[in-house]
Amino acid sequence: MNCIFCKIIAGEIPAKLLVDSNHVVAFPDLNPVAPTHILILPKRHVENAAELAEVDPDALKEIFKVAKKLAGELNLPGYRTVFNTGEAAGQSVFHAHLHLLGGRSFSWPPG
Ligand code: AMP
Repeated sequence: MNCIFCKIIAGEIPAKLLVDSNHVVAFPDLNPVAPTHILILPKRHVENAAELAEVDPDALKEIFKVAKKLAGELNLPGYRTVFNTGEAAGQSVFHAHLHLLGGRSFSWPPG
């Protein structure tokens, strides 16, 4: 499978792993859009968050626990978590991943 995140998980593409548990990894986004921009994702290849909720709800839960833990370690007063689903919503890598964004203020509605 030609999935860039599977290749990172397999160690074929370098990334600075901030978390590497049995089921979840986290690493900084290559093109950060905020001072803190970390991707948190399941090791298992699934296309999006809804699919992950169906096949491995524990991994989805762990992803949000990791987000909270990292935000705490980074002393973020607040943070934004985003799962893009589908090209129309801006998804470009079709391996489910949570964006953890922080370190600046965020507007609403999002762009
Ligand atoms: P999305 O557009 O929601 O699918 O998010 C995909 C994210 O993956 C983008 O923010 C990219 O900057 C990021 N990305 C792509 N390749 C890499 C990589 N090799 N290492 C880290 N982040 C990456």
